[in-house]
Amino acid sequence: MPEISYPKEVIRDLIEGKLPWNQLKSIISGYKDNDRFDKYVAVLQEKVPWQERILLPLTDELYIVQKGKERIVKCSCGYEFGDYRENWKLKALIHVRDTEAELDEIYPYPSKPEPGYCEMREHYCPGCGIQLEVDTVPFGYPAVFDFLPDLDTFYRDWLRRPLDTKLEFTDLSYELTRRWSAEGRESIKKTDTKARRRKKV
Ligand SMILES: [Zn+2]
Repeated sequence: MPEISYPKEVIRDLIEGKLPWNQLKSIISGYKDNDRFDKYVAVLQEKVPWQERILLPLTDELYIVQKGKERIVKCSCGYEFGDYRENWKLKALIHVRDTEAELDEIYPYPSKPEPGYCEMREHYCPGCGIQLEVDTVPFGYPAVFDFLPDLDTFYRDWLRRPLDTKLEFTDLSYELTRRWSAEGRESIKKTDTKARRRKKV
């Protein structure tokens, strides 16, 4: 593969959509720089207002970062969603559109999701309110986990520099909802006990 290396400034303009079409076309259709990932992350790191090291960008606004021994999902505003192996959408603010009127606000044309069959879930950051992701799914469908990367394998086998700590590569979302469910049951029990005590008084 030919050795190619664009200056970081070019990669920054690429990310920000400022490159003229002819240059953009030659970059996206050509071989990738061997150090493209590092330059890409370096540009992103300069753009965010916090210090934690970016391990992998997830979306335009979300990043997996190293925080102490943890790897967490963080918004560009600084809001932290917690362990990256838990679906961050479970901790986002969610607006659901499931009526004709609510969908009409987004789709002014006849072609739109059928509110009798599915719902549109808009996910927002609790820290800055930016829209992070939109899913259209059947009613009751579990929160879609878009991307759970195997970071240890990526850094060890692809970048050839293993991360300092190794974490089990597994989806922890169900552990999280199980914990919430147990906490919910516990708090209902406490409320019931209090209510029974009040009745006795
Ligand atoms: Zn945010």
